[in-house]
Amino acid sequence: MNAIGKLSLLMIGFLLLAVEKPFAQSNGLVNTSQSPYAKLSGVDMGNVQWTTGFWAERFKACQDSMIPHLWSVYTDPKMGHAMQNFEIAAGLDTGAHVGPPFQDGDFYKLLEAMTAMYAINKDPKLGAELDKTIALIAKAQRADGYIHTPTLIDEHQHPDKAKAFEDRLNFETYNLGHLMTAACIHYRVTGKRTFLDIAIKATDYLYRFYKTASPELARNAICPSHYMGVVEMYRTTHDQKYLELAKNLIDIRGLMKDGTDDNQDRIPFRQQTAAMGHAVRANYLYAGAADVFAETGDTTLTHTLNLVWNDVVNRKMYITGGCGALYDGASPDGTSYLLKDVQEIHQAYGRDYQLPNFTAHNETCASVGNVLWNWRMLQLTGDAKYADIMELTLYNGMLSGISLSGTKYLYTNPLSVSDDLPFQQRWSKDRVGYIGYSDCCPPNVVRTIAELSNYVYSLSDKGLYFNLYGGNNLSTTLKNGKAVKIAEQTDYPWNGDIRFTVNEAPETAFSMFFRMPGWCTDAKLIVNGKPTSIKLIPGEYAELNAQWKAGDKIELNLAMPVTMVEANPLLEETRNQIAVKRGPVVYCIESAGIPKDAKVLGLSLSSHIDLKPEKIVIDHSNLVGLSGTASMQNTVWKNRLYQTVPAKDAGTVNIQLIPYFAWGNRGHVEMETWIPVSR
Ligand SMILES: [Zn+2]
Repeated sequence: MNAIGKLSLLMIGFLLLAVEKPFAQSNGLVNTSQSPYAKLSGVDMGNVQWTTGFWAERFKACQDSMIPHLWSVYTDPKMGHAMQNFEIAAGLDTGAHVGPPFQDGDFYKLLEAMTAMYAINKDPKLGAELDKTIALIAKAQRADGYIHTPTLIDEHQHPDKAKAFEDRLNFETYNLGHLMTAACIHYRVTGKRTFLDIAIKATDYLYRFYKTASPELARNAICPSHYMGVVEMYRTTHDQKYLELAKNLIDIRGLMKDGTDDNQDRIPFRQQTAAMGHAVRANYLYAGAADVFAETGDTTLTHTLNLVWNDVVNRKMYITGGCGALYDGASPDGTSYLLKDVQEIHQAYGRDYQLPNFTAHNETCASVGNVLWNWRMLQLTGDAKYADIMELTLYNGMLSGISLSGTKYLYTNPLSVSDDLPFQQRWSKDRVGYIGYSDCCPPNVVRTIAELSNYVYSLSDKGLYFNLYGGNNLSTTLKNGKAVKIAEQTDYPWNGDIRFTVNEAPETAFSMFFRMPGWCTDAKLIVNGKPTSIKLIPGEYAELNAQWKAGDKIELNLAMPVTMVEANPLLEETRNQIAVKRGPVVYCIESAGIPKDAKVLGLSLSSHIDLKPEKIVIDHSNLVGLSGTASMQNTVWKNRLYQTVPAKDAGTVNIQLIPYFAWGNRGHVEMETWIPVSR
């Protein structure tokens, strides 16, 4: 062999090595390990295994029923038709696209959930289904990287007509965003490049598109999951052009003439001071902007994010963490004399303190978006106030979107339901197995539950953060590369006693940061039987620095009394009403938990009521209910708007409150979260 031949062989060998060599990185769900402006990063996927308790139970339901059920929906040609759309787009079948234009993205979310599940259980069947589906997606993708089954199928039939990115309601970038996120996670979990290579081709296509697009086409960003997706692609591949693309995507918002508040692009992002418009789109935008900040340190982004976060948390968020009060509305509402300035909004944030209960929209995806946003804010800052909102939303507004059985879903999450309300709303108030045209929420909530173990811990240069609590085993490495293993035992959120055992620790000291929930005013932290002297402040992390060793035991006791919550009086829908909370869990009252002759809307509670926690089981799920008594009125309100207040109540009844997220799992019910205070 001559020198040129040897050189060629060497080059081929080098190229092969380059193709197979994985991108160096840690394997967190959201990988901020190299992000220069993020204080925290996640542990690797698969490092946390649920053992017993609340999330172990939900995770098992995710494995045994949620994912199999969704898989059957999305591969059934009569329901989801998602798999069939890819088969037709790949030329393996004939027919038309069926389903909403964002169906591809929802299917990618399911693949993401399956991947997160595979990270834990390594089920070969799941792995094989993923491999097969990813091969199909690769076949459907156009050579130039474009992938969106409605357009690809159209192209087969009308090669001259179908064009990419012409209609912003085609949701192409939403689909691409979920493709990128799912593919990054798949690569981290499996080490395989199959899915990632599809996403690289697609992201390169998007990069080229934005380089050449007209301003009208460039504004094509409805429900921008791709901001998070593109940044995650940058974190995975270290390709600078993806970061350039992500920055550009934020910069071009609000620069066109016909932007809308509904889509958060009437005003440039950096000039926005309040949450507005469609709540899922908004929360995805905020999460994506937080991702861009993590890489760039552009404080004009966090300036807006901080203002908007305060607006949401202090004026526009339900007690459940739900976002998006309005089915339909107007913006800016009531502040302009010019009607032409007033725009329609839908599924949207409303005015300050405008939080109706019966007609709350509260899309489940908006709750997921709230979690995604607050998780990123937590990683940027290490500030426990973001973990508080995450926890609140996870236990309440997110989980109410799925039945305890794991096979039925809500699109909207009202805080009150009455059969007497004389109009029908657009979306069912009973959970259904397939939402139909708007099935975005089911795979979103299922991926969140599949991935929840990844939110429990964070890493910083100083050590380990405990963000959420639940029975689990952690086996990870600290930022300095040293191994640490910790077992956590608890019946949280039903009981505030949490026990940690260190099973392996490095020889050098490191800090453990325990989150003191904002709702807990009486916490104790005990190390090897001795109470610590450090101050435990609600809503902050408590740092314990020590040279930990195997066998060390830490106890965290979070007092969890039943509490009554009232709302700002400007929130007129809840005047003179109370909501009941215990720990992070919001409670409600439903008709299945009161005597048959009582009506949910006729009940009122004393603000001094003694509610007793008791273990209950609803649809095979272990919960804690609260039992007590309520005053009852028997007024018949039919066709009556007003009446004189009766001289006295009709007596008292025994009631049982249940966690809000578990409402509606005992058949069709009426339900109320904000309950009037007794006269
Ligand atoms: Zn949704």
